[in-house]
This record gives sequence, structure tokens and C-alpha cells, in this order.
Amino acid sequence: MSQATKKTAPTFEKMEKIVSLAKRRGFVFQSSEIYGGLNSCYDYGPMGILLKNNVKQAWWKAVVQERDDICGLDSSILMHPQVWIASGHVDSFTDPLVDCKKCKQRFRADHVEGPACPECGGELTEARQFNLMFKTFMGPVEDSTAVVHLRPETAQGIFVNFKNVQTVSRKKVPFGIAQIGKAFRNEITPGKFTFRTREFEMMEIEYFVHPEQAKERHQMWLEERKNWYIRLGIKPENLRLRQHGRDELAHYADDCYDVEYNFPWGWSELEGIANRTDYDLKAHEKVSGKDLKYFDEEKNEHYVPYVIEPSAGVDRSSLAFLADAFEEDETPTAKGGVEVRTVLRFSNALAPFKAAILPLSKKEPLTATAEKLYQDLRKEFFCDYDDRGSIGKRYRRQDEVGTPYCITVDFETANDNAVTVRDRDSLQQERISIDGLKSKLRDMLSK
Ligand code: ATP
Repeated sequence: MSQATKKTAPTFEKMEKIVSLAKRRGFVFQSSEIYGGLNSCYDYGPMGILLKNNVKQAWWKAVVQERDDICGLDSSILMHPQVWIASGHVDSFTDPLVDCKKCKQRFRADHVEGPACPECGGELTEARQFNLMFKTFMGPVEDSTAVVHLRPETAQGIFVNFKNVQTVSRKKVPFGIAQIGKAFRNEITPGKFTFRTREFEMMEIEYFVHPEQAKERHQMWLEERKNWYIRLGIKPENLRLRQHGRDELAHYADDCYDVEYNFPWGWSELEGIANRTDYDLKAHEKVSGKDLKYFDEEKNEHYVPYVIEPSAGVDRSSLAFLADAFEEDETPTAKGGVEVRTVLRFSNALAPFKAAILPLSKKEPLTATAEKLYQDLRKEFFCDYDDRGSIGKRYRRQDEVGTPYCITVDFETANDNAVTVRDRDSLQQERISIDGLKSKLRDMLSK
């Protein structure tokens, strides 16, 4: 560690600082900003898309690539209208809504404490149920027969493909199907930056088990998923599991836990891990008339499997990774003041850029060497190249986007064929030969 004293910004300002950094450094922009923005919709900028892709890749690697019992799927967003009738979403995918009689604002009833409007203190209406699914029309005729929904979860695409995937993969229960994709919910009260939006991405697993194994596998997934966040850098003290009360359970769930993160505004859900029982497959059997039972050859038994569903949000987890990585170091200056260094301490797997190549001068032979190094390294890692401004400013720019290693090509490089590698967290600098740099970097980044 350097002499810098680590200090995290006080909670009340922290979110504002994160939002401002996210915009300034190209993580997240307001959607349609030049038109004044579209409420609760966001665009991911050059850094944000790298972070988000890394989150998705890390999830896919952990749940599909490294496991024998899960395979992937990419189902369509628009599905047959019967899907949402069978699944219960048309009738039950609702939130209770209240209106303020005075200021006319709308709120989710379960987000309002007490009988008065949280904005103006006015009287609230009785709660009524509001369906969260977006509707649109398929084809050229806009009548009720052409209504389709934008999916509010990716799960139903998995359920309706259960037989297809089981048949082609020849997987035996217990096995799972994983999918990453967009979902849409017409949230009554979106807000808190990218935490609750109307368009978002989900990472979902439907894990099919024998009904007798459901409870045990549910517990296994709780541990599995919690550890995934910790492995990717979330501080364990900022993560917890919370079991739903009976009154909170979704219409399909028998039991559910949330993985919660301690966001700057408090504990909030990152991922729901539910026991959906055989609710969905049985519902689709009934409405479609198709047999969705699994046949266990060894036991000669036909049954509808239970389903354990770890369902995570890409946007929410990216925001949690960003918030958890955000730190401000204060270093005393020679003049008696303090210098604040903003740094995103992303894990190596999630850092948008893995390394930055910084030639000390724009002159030859430094530039040619730095360019060559950049072209070579970027084949393997996402790298940045920056030759503008003082080296101190360039280090700060990289710290602010969380680049783990800065590689400086200097005037000595031509003599010793080596570069200086600076570690974002320890601030230690090490002289490393260019010949061994790529494998050394690979080594350091694999941690
Ligand atoms: P909340 O009560 O916070 O709105 P939920 O319990 O309805 O969430 P689930 O149906 O369990 O959420 O969805 C699974 C995951 O999808 C959530 O844990 C979250 O990460 C993500 N998610 C759900 N709704 C949204 C949203 N409106 N914006 C961003 N992510 C969302």
C-alpha cells in the first residue's frame, strides 16, 4: 500500500459522485439526452459497455462454461400471447398503485409509508392493481387480436423451450438453462439511477430438479450466487441474503431469497433466488396441451420438475460493482493540503481496460515502441493508449475508470528494453522487460 490513506466518501454524497463519474467517464448517459432525456432509460457509454459485457461474460463463464449441468439459450423477446396468460403474468404481474388526489403523482403502494402522499402530504387513493407488462401490436393491424407483450422476464422463453433443450442436450435432471437478455417492465416508480428502470437486462437460470431435491438445491444456489459477487470484488460485508416474507412472494414462488447489496441509499435487491416449484411447466402443459414431463430412465418415472431460479439484473449488478469499486484516497501534499485520488478498484475480471500504455513523450523512439506494444497487447486484453497531458493526469484518468495497470514507455526503454508498470491499488512501480510483459500481465490479471 502507498502512503495514501484510504477513505470512502460519506454515504450521502457517494451516490451523487458515482452518478457524476459515470457520466464524465462514459459509463452511463441519460437516454435521448439531447431531447431532455427519457425518464428511467439509460445508455451505456464506451466504459459502461465494457463493464457490462465483463459482468455478463463473468456470469456466463461461471454458470455455463465452467459447469456440466447448465446450457445456454437466447429466446426471442416477443412470444405467443398465450405464454403470458399461462404463466399468470396477464392476471398477476401487477404492483399496487396509489394516486395522490392533490398533486396527481403516482406511487407504488408498498413504497409509501403511511396514508399521506410522500411529495405533498395530500390524500392518497385506494390501492389498485397495475399490470407492469408493456403491450405492443404485431403486424400491420392494431387491434386486440394483434396484442403482444414485451417480456417482463426471460424465464418464460426458457420454460417453453424446456423440452427442446433437454432433448438436444440429453441432460439429465438436475440440469439448468441459462439466458441473458432484455426485459421490460412499466414500473410505476422507477428511479435511483440504473437501479430500477423500465428496460433492463437480466441474467437468469432455470434449474430443473426433482421435487424432493428442490429445497437442498435452493440452498446450494444461494451460496453459489452470493459467492459469485464476492469473487468479482464485492466486499462481503456489503452483501447479504434476505428471505421473503409470505406476503412478498411472487405469484409463482413457494420460497424466495434476495441477494441484497448495501447501496449508498441502503440494502436493496440485486438478485432474486426463488423456488418456482412446478408452477410454470404445469401451467404451460395445461394451456398448450403439450406434455412437458421429464422421463427419468433409471427410475422409470415421469414427472414435472421443480425449478430453482437465480434471477439477476445486469444493470443492478453493474451499478453495485461500480459503487463497491468507488473509493477516494486522500494523500497529504507537500504544501500541507490534501490531494484526493478517485479510483475504481474493480476486480481484474471486470475492469473495462486491463492496461493503459502511456509513452512519456510524443517523440521517437518512444512512440514507435509504445504503439507496437499497444498493438501487441490489445490482441489479448482491452487496452487504452494515452499520450496526452502530464503523466500524473494520465494516471488519474486511468484510476477513474479502474485500469489495473499503467505501462509507461520512457527514455530508458530504448536502452533496457523495459517499461515501468504501475499498480492501480498499491501504486507500486515495477520495471519489467518488454519481452516478458505479456505473460507477466496475463499472470497478474488472472488473479
Ligand atoms: P424490485 O422489487 O426491486 O422491483 P423484483 O423483485 O420485481 O425487483 P425480480 O422479478 O426478482 O425483481 O427480478 C430479478 C432481478 O431483475 C432483480 O433482482 C433485479 O436485479 C432485476 N430487475 C428487476 N426489475 C428491474 C428494473 N425495473 N430495473 C432494473 N433491474 C431490474
